[in-house]
Amino acid sequence: MEKINRRTFMQSVAAAAAVSAVPEAEAKPEGSGPVFLSTWPHGKPANERAAEVFKSGGSLLDAVEKGINVPESDPNVMSVGYGGLPNADGVVSLDAGIMDGTRHRAGAVCALEGIKNPISVARLVLERTRHTTMAGEGALRFALEMGFHTEQLLTPKSLERWMQWKATPNHETFWITPDNHDTIGMVATDGRGHMVAGCSTSGLEWKIPGRVADSPLVGLGYFADDNAGAASATGDGDLMSNYCTSVSIVHLMARGASPQEACAEILKQMVKTIPANKDGECAVIAMNNRGEIGTASMNAKFHLKYALWRNAESQLLDSVVLY
Ligand code: ASP
Repeated sequence: MEKINRRTFMQSVAAAAAVSAVPEAEAKPEGSGPVFLSTWPHGKPANERAAEVFKSGGSLLDAVEKGINVPESDPNVMSVGYGGLPNADGVVSLDAGIMDGTRHRAGAVCALEGIKNPISVARLVLERTRHTTMAGEGALRFALEMGFHTEQLLTPKSLERWMQWKATPNHETFWITPDNHDTIGMVATDGRGHMVAGCSTSGLEWKIPGRVADSPLVGLGYFADDNAGAASATGDGDLMSNYCTSVSIVHLMARGASPQEACAEILKQMVKTIPANKDGECAVIAMNNRGEIGTASMNAKFHLKYALWRNAESQLLDSVVLY
């Protein structure tokens, strides 16, 4: 299995080398239309909002930011923004990041409390500062200076879940056995080779206060480069952080892998280094600068459903399962 896929991948690298001799205009067809690709069922309304924003004249960055605002603001999405499950202290601590593939610049916030749309604060880190990532107290002060207001992000439902967890004997075993997480990751193109990626999460439920994983960190939870494509990751960020998944996928695409090959390749690399990673909760999505897409889940236990918006059609589909 490994050998065949490896060979297929190498053939695609050779094929891509041939493609790179094709004139630019043929490699990136003008006006093929925007494409939005997101993780999980909550990615579908997010894509639809993003497409709407883009259609009404917003930039691709506006589209991704406003699209991600949808699950962030939805109290029923318990892994992102308002209503996201809290940390061990019962505090909702949010992470988000967004990257512009033209400027090759990202903005991100980590461990932000009391602000339900962290992707919008991340966008302002990108637009208004020379920094890339801001964390905790400083990120909150920045958000307040930018006009955001704090609010209680716990909902009756998420508070109840936290209280149930607190009442469980030996509840701290969560520190070694993660359970809930379903970040929103979105990758997008304008159909003319411009790429944007974004990611927003409340992170692992009951996490140790201060924990930051892959989602807000550029290259880990998301990455975009107009020269190749964009990618995002979801799942056990403590595990995936060690593999810099999103930037690795984009670099594989830059070397000629298709988005599907690149997604499969990074998860296989994880298993090659540590075979037990086969049971890990890991999934990735990718899109190249021609709007072709790829998705992969490590195993059937953590099976990513992804949302795709293309040619005015909005779909929810099953990713490829590797092991
Ligand atoms: N990767 C995120 C984290 O570990 C969670 C997720 O993607 O579902 O914080």
